[in-house]
Amino acid sequence: MIVMKFGGSSVSNAERIRRVIEIVSARLDRKPVVVTSAFRGVTDDLFAAAEEALQGGDGLLEKIRARHFEMLRDLGLESDLIKEPLAELTVLLKGISLVKELTPRTQDYVVSFGERLSTRTIAAAFLKAGVPAEPHDAFDIGMLTDDAFGAAQPLPEADAELRRHLARMNKLPIVTGYIGKTRAGDITTLGRNGSDFTATILGAALEVEEIQIWSDTDGVMTADPRIVPTAKPIEVLTFDEASELAYYGGRVLHPSTIVPAVRKRIPVRVLNTFKPEYAGTTIVARSDGHPAGVKSIAHHLANYVVNIRSTRMLMGHGFLARVFNAFAQHRIVVNMVSTSEVTISVTVDSPRHLDAAVETLSAFSDVTVEKNRAIICVVGEGLRSTPGIAGDVFGALREAGVNVLMISQGASKINVAFVVDDRDAEAAVRALHRRFFGA
Ligand code: ASP
Ligand code: MG
Repeated sequence: MIVMKFGGSSVSNAERIRRVIEIVSARLDRKPVVVTSAFRGVTDDLFAAAEEALQGGDGLLEKIRARHFEMLRDLGLESDLIKEPLAELTVLLKGISLVKELTPRTQDYVVSFGERLSTRTIAAAFLKAGVPAEPHDAFDIGMLTDDAFGAAQPLPEADAELRRHLARMNKLPIVTGYIGKTRAGDITTLGRNGSDFTATILGAALEVEEIQIWSDTDGVMTADPRIVPTAKPIEVLTFDEASELAYYGGRVLHPSTIVPAVRKRIPVRVLNTFKPEYAGTTIVARSDGHPAGVKSIAHHLANYVVNIRSTRMLMGHGFLARVFNAFAQHRIVVNMVSTSEVTISVTVDSPRHLDAAVETLSAFSDVTVEKNRAIICVVGEGLRSTPGIAGDVFGALREAGVNVLMISQGASKINVAFVVDDRDAEAAVRALHRRFFGA
């Protein structure tokens, strides 16, 4: 048994849905459970439609309706198929505009329709193509969650419930990603991009042999191919490596997403819907037996480095706490940290609230801010086990004439991250890729 999850871009038009049907049909012998997202852009439109309803408007409902009817027409399907959920959505939005109130609970209810509409459409397309398939709202087959609307977590009993329901199915199940229900019957969502999470929850509950995440990339790459044309997809990544890369990759799975799979040691494979013959990247709990060198050179441009020098306290107790409190107070996410006896440098990736934080920090320290800074991150289990790799990193940078401004090594010891000027980022990434991947 496998779980196959298809994201919004894999199901954004009729041609792509036909492609998905082909991919799944070629793997029916592995007993797939299909999880799908809403059609691309629909979740955003639903969020906006809820806001619009709050203001008394209904233009977006028309857009959403038209989008789905067009899809059905292109697939040669009857529009009756989605009449019920569309009617329910219409009443719901009307209700919001009447009571002029939009709670997180109602918002989840509204956005749940993206997946409820897409699975019905996709299952019908499978059926038309001769594959007996059946759509399922995840909450009808055991996806029980807590009531943290917008970021719900599955309840412990969901596993057994999901297992029980899915064991009884003999048609190809097409399951809604992203959504669940509380014990009390309220619809919840697992957070944006939550369909990946649905896939790993289902996969773990069913103890499948593999969880496949189909999207529109070749998997995780050794570097950004726009900078390094010879960059290759990485075959195997450990969970730790994938977590370190998550921040830089953007498209890599969010680490929390694969927790259920890691717990049960089920491999998660990232595949490309548009190049199904590619092996993609497989994320495993441990790299036993897999090559352990440097896996990837990631980078992130346009950061701010905030240097904080303790004036009065000279790293007296509580200094770091005050520094991080200042960032927390202004809701600023700190990414990289490096400290010395009297200074601490951190990077942040947005100027939002930065001036206010600097003001707070200035009450007890000297603060300078540097703009246009790039973080470069070298990741690989090999960094932990092979002495000298860090030396190689900085040797390669020296040869490339890149000036390193800040350095940090994560506690997991599988990454070395450093800061350079934005203008040096490409040279640094290329030099490191050449050093570790030969091209
Ligand atoms: N449709 C939801 C979203 O856009 C969930 C997903 O696509 O994974 O966030
Ligand atoms: Mg996604």
